[in-house]
This record gives sequence, C-alpha cells and structure tokens, in this order.
Amino acid sequence: MSSQKIFLFDFDGVIVDGMQEYWHTSLLACERYLNSPYISVDQKLYKRVPNSFKEIRPWVKYGWEMILIVHEIIKTENPLTNDNKDDFINNYYQNCQKILKDNYWLAEDLQTILNKSREYQIHKDFRKWVDLHNPFFEVINLIEELSKREIKTGIITTKGKIFAEKILRQLNIYPEFVFGYESGTKIKIAQKLSETNEILGFIEDRKKTLIEIKQNSETSHIPCFLANWGYLKESDRYNLNNGIKLLKLVNLEELVAI
Ligand SMILES: [Mg+2]
Repeated sequence: MSSQKIFLFDFDGVIVDGMQEYWHTSLLACERYLNSPYISVDQKLYKRVPNSFKEIRPWVKYGWEMILIVHEIIKTENPLTNDNKDDFINNYYQNCQKILKDNYWLAEDLQTILNKSREYQIHKDFRKWVDLHNPFFEVINLIEELSKREIKTGIITTKGKIFAEKILRQLNIYPEFVFGYESGTKIKIAQKLSETNEILGFIEDRKKTLIEIKQNSETSHIPCFLANWGYLKESDRYNLNNGIKLLKLVNLEELVAI
C-alpha cells in the first residue's frame, strides 16, 4: 500500500449544513421547471423550511429525490405533512418510485432541473446562494490541520461536483479530489482511491453508505465515522456495528492524532 495518506469526507451534512439551500433550490425547481398541475408556489413558501422536509431529509440519497419530496409537500391536494410523513418514510424507496411513475417523471430529468435551479441562482446572485449554506467550521479546521500534516483530502458527494467545488472555494478549501454523483458510487470511488492511497478515515452522515463500505472486502479496512452533526435518522445513532464509530464535532481534533 502506498504511503500517501488521504482522509475522505462526505459534503452535505458533514462539511456544510445545506438544509435551506435544498429547500430553496428544490422549491425553485418545482416552480420554474417542473410544470406540475398539482402545485402552486406561493412566495411565502421560500421563507421557512417545513419540518416535514427536515425530517425526511435523512432518507434522501440523491438530490433529485428532494424535488419529489418538495412536490409532495406543496401539493394542493393530499400534501405530505408532518402528520402523514411516517407513512412516506416507512416505505421511502417504493414511494419515490411510485411518485416518479405516477407523474411520468424520470429521475435523471429531476436531477437535471435541480442542477438548472442551482445554476439559475448562481447566475442571478452567487453570494445569496452561497449564504444558504452553513459551514461546520470544526470540519473546516480539521481539513486545514490535515493539509498542514500533508495528508490529502478527498470529498465524495452525491451532489454535482461543480456545485460542491463552488462552495468549497468560498470556504477556502482546496481538496486534492472532489467526486460528484457523476463519478459513480461512493464505494467504487473509495475502492479506487484505496488502491493508491492509505485512507485514514471517511466521515459520512449516511449510515447505509458506511455499512456498505464496511461490508465490501476491498474497502472494509477504511476507518468509518458517522457524523453525529449531519442528517441522521434517530435510529442511526444506535446499534452501530462493523467498526463504524459515531463521531461528534467536539471530538474531531482527536482524529488528527491518527
Ligand atoms: Mg451527507
């Protein structure tokens, strides 16, 4: 194994809290590009992220799912609310597939309009878009500390690479690698990186992703950390096995001692 050391980070929920941005961008995508007869977008909706959206966010794997969720929340008839969100969550994957089918949508098309909505905002008022993200400064400090120690940083996100890079630059972070959804699954990326690097750790807030990494023989050696500050389901914090550690922001400094 090469001696080049690298530390891996997820982006959303680990480096930044983008909850406001997800809501804003998905709502704008619904308003401008979705052409759904079942919604009407009141401008007041932009002001506050509904609890139902916040509570469902931990189930989201890909960005396009957020458009679908926002669509369900703002529907004029039978909307998704705090009261019926559990039914939605309990069958999350199947519900998303059913909604795609019922509306004749393709996931790729929803992803395209999510990207368009981001591009529109970036073009219109870049600063305003950036300000919809709240960075976790403890994580940024850790990345700076790693770079002082000549440990590389890799960011693996299910966001489009270009959008993650724009935010990272504003935060003054210049990682050696940024992989977006275009680069394939996180497990494949980690596997590839581990061929030429010694991966010191991977901080991610999606427990399922970490379990997959731990269950794959090529990547099981990677120390995996579940970000306690990210978008976790309450149950994620319990029954951690496979050597996945729950990590708190206050304990980040200890990681540098690796
Ligand atoms: Mg995440």
